[in-house]
Amino acid sequence: MIKRRETSEIKVGDIYIGSNHPISIQSMTTFDPIDVENSIKQIQDLEKVGCDIVRTAVPSLKSASFLGEIKKSIKIPLVADIHFDYKIALKAIEEGVDGLRLNPGNISDKSKIESVVYAAKERDIPIRVGINGGSLEKDIEDRYGRTALGMVESALRHISILESFGFYNIKISLKASDIFRTVEAYRLIAKKVNYPLHIGITEAGTPFQGGISSAVGIGLLLFEGIGDTIRVSLTGDPIDEVKTASAILKSLGLKSGRIKFVSCPTCGRASKEVIPFATELEDVLSGVKKDITVAVMGCPVNGPGEAKEADVAVIPTENSGLIYKNGILIDRVENQLIIKRVLEIIDKL
Ligand code: SF4
Repeated sequence: MIKRRETSEIKVGDIYIGSNHPISIQSMTTFDPIDVENSIKQIQDLEKVGCDIVRTAVPSLKSASFLGEIKKSIKIPLVADIHFDYKIALKAIEEGVDGLRLNPGNISDKSKIESVVYAAKERDIPIRVGINGGSLEKDIEDRYGRTALGMVESALRHISILESFGFYNIKISLKASDIFRTVEAYRLIAKKVNYPLHIGITEAGTPFQGGISSAVGIGLLLFEGIGDTIRVSLTGDPIDEVKTASAILKSLGLKSGRIKFVSCPTCGRASKEVIPFATELEDVLSGVKKDITVAVMGCPVNGPGEAKEADVAVIPTENSGLIYKNGILIDRVENQLIIKRVLEIIDKL
């Protein structure tokens, strides 16, 4: 059983983050908010696969002016990612975003930082201090090099600026593309502050390699109880980020309310229908909210035995599918009707 680290609690829209609140899944749009239509479509697709919070880069003041319009058509909280310009941050807040990712030390003037912090406080929205191991402040890099310690020092500097204005509605990320450095940085900061942590491996790579690197890095931290919200960063469709994040949480027993999907590796006993069927069913079930296990097994010889811990198990054969509930055969239906029947059964569970 994983014991989560105790943290302060923050709220992004209607999602609580920290301590024993469910670990939320985040992703990021690939569009400038100016492209309202594609941004909305992508966010709605992300919602369907289980994304809890979505972030969008806001590169200009004009981009920020479309955030309110996007927010009207989406259900999940929207976080604005701002780099240097405090005016963009103020506009994003005015447009109703649910959180900011912003490093206050990147804004030159103290009064400008204060105006952003004041606006965030007034609207009760959190700010994420997000450190990227590849872009530390020069003096910190000179002193510590590109190390975990340097990342932590950088985070503490930004945090102390926010705290100096009495602002504590904070979460932190410390991402590097190197797993060892990232894990070390999170372990260090977890001992120094009690703010919730947004964890992930940055520039992890394409969906296959990036998914594995993220699973290793994020998995290690989660296993130690570190991490309150996660993002899997992939060079690819953000839908894959959410699916991978969800799979990481499920594999550690940290994702309740979603179907745990298991399938056998297949062998010489399996019919050729098994792999495409398992792929299709997993896809269909990814959006279903139920705390159950569904299994796809390859053969009627060993399948039922191997799937007996599943609530529902399916064995597709050449013409028909055998459906089991709690290990007992309850139905046999034509192949093209299996998914419909499985959904009916799950609905009643
Ligand atoms: S369930 Fe059947 S097909 Fe799948 S791995 Fe086991 S023996 Fe092979």
